[in-house]
Amino acid sequence: VTPPPTVLHAFRAAVGRAPDRAALAYFDGRLSYRETDALSDSVAGHLAARGLRRGDRVAVMLQNSPHFVLALLGAWKAGATVVPLNPMYRSGEAGHALRDAGVTALACSDRAWAEYLRETAAAAPDLRIALTACERDLQSVDDPRVFRSERLPAPGPDDPADDLLAVARAGHAPPAGREPAAADTALISYTSGTGGTPKGAMNSHANIAYNAERQRVGQPVPEGSGYFALAPLFHITGMVCQFAACTANAGTLVLTHRFEPGLVLEAFAAHRPAYAIGPATAFMALAAHPDATPDHFASFRQLSSGGAPLPPALVERFRAGFGPYLRNGYGLTECTAPCASVPPGREAPVDPVSGTLSVGVPGADTVVRILDEAGREVPFGEQGEIAVRGPQVVPGYWNLPEATAAAFPDGELRTGDIGFMDAAGWLYVVDRKKDMINASGFKVWPREVEDVLYTHPAVREAAVVGVPDAYRGETVRAYVSLRPGTSVEPGELGTYCKERLAAYKYPREVEILTELPKTTSGKILRRELRSSR
Ligand code: ATP
Repeated sequence: VTPPPTVLHAFRAAVGRAPDRAALAYFDGRLSYRETDALSDSVAGHLAARGLRRGDRVAVMLQNSPHFVLALLGAWKAGATVVPLNPMYRSGEAGHALRDAGVTALACSDRAWAEYLRETAAAAPDLRIALTACERDLQSVDDPRVFRSERLPAPGPDDPADDLLAVARAGHAPPAGREPAAADTALISYTSGTGGTPKGAMNSHANIAYNAERQRVGQPVPEGSGYFALAPLFHITGMVCQFAACTANAGTLVLTHRFEPGLVLEAFAAHRPAYAIGPATAFMALAAHPDATPDHFASFRQLSSGGAPLPPALVERFRAGFGPYLRNGYGLTECTAPCASVPPGREAPVDPVSGTLSVGVPGADTVVRILDEAGREVPFGEQGEIAVRGPQVVPGYWNLPEATAAAFPDGELRTGDIGFMDAAGWLYVVDRKKDMINASGFKVWPREVEDVLYTHPAVREAAVVGVPDAYRGETVRAYVSLRPGTSVEPGELGTYCKERLAAYKYPREVEILTELPKTTSGKILRRELRSSR
């Protein structure tokens, strides 16, 4: 794999190859590669004129919209590092990242900006520039299904915010001499926090360009195809596997603001995309929608599930109902999304002992090792911590030298995930090290129990956690949500697992919820379930 130095190089190559092709599609709106280039040049020119310097941080806190991409490209063209933030964050949550990264410019919705001004201005002292977006501007204006916030009253005289689209359309020339280099930090990506306090992983331009190019050459998606943004762009999976990989392939990125199954199905029918990636929960939500038909998925050349566990029962359920094979892939923010995936034309094996679906094989330039507690490599088939070395592994965390030293000894990423490798080189993720349940001294991996629950026809989503127990130390507790039109007693699910698992593993407590708590990128939050008791 020979990537260009940065995603901007890949973007300019796409502008050269296909200037009139739509780079972005958003409801009824389209922006060609040429237009996207000109509009983002103007954003860069504006940021520089407002005093943004090379290496400064620009936070982009927007949903999946053209505005996100214009702010991202504009910031990179101005030589800045981008801090993608979840637009669902309230001011306190965003405040941590704004302060920690010393952000000087922020692109966000006008509602988020108003809230920021009211509540956190004093807490992020470096912030001087704001670009606000009314995300309705580029779509059919009267479509009430998508746009749920109204434009706020005109800003007061002290409000430094400019309108993002007006800035993009102003025709400012981009600043000279700001071009980022391969080793520069493209993103500070705050990990989603399923495990605790977010840390800012520093993804370099080279990290992103490598993973995008690896995806382009390794998958059967023709140049110019539609890439559907099922995952949010503010999450590393969406940023890399959707935006950067689409750009590397001069494709059209299809954006629908947020994940809403009904709208997504409509957009599949309208755009006939060839590629999408999302967490297993997104595919299940689509499959459960009453309008979903196999035809909605007929245009896809590849559907990937990434960033969260994929139970084998879901792969089969999806294939039986809709046709496509869901291709598993494993990655972390710290390795700029994927580091292992299932190669095209192959299917991931299921481990006969544990029933775990393989996440694929490491890419050609990537070395995955399985290590014991002392950091020694273990033999094939044995469990240990997954460690990754390769061109997609980030140099470290922003401003956290100790956490960097602990997570990246000698530049190799210690993932905190337990896994094993079979003799043929297939990698299996058992679970997160910190989620292990210790029941009467026995190790229970929640994933294994969840995989069994997913084989039950009534189960839509499952999460297993350890809860304190006076007798066993910890006991296994399951939370499930049910598929529409089904019903089952909690005790019946316990018995179902007991028939299929060793006695210490089956959930002694089962609770049925209408919905399981998830991150906005679709990952089920075991932590929240543990603390909800
Ligand atoms: P935090 O680091 O704050 O806990 P997070 O771990 O959710 O947040 P991400 O970088 O988005 O942050 O997620 C990476 C994790 O997701 C991996 O460490 C792994 O536990 C899990 N994961 C990713 N892909 C897969 C997969 N295919 N199968 C199983 N688990 C996966």
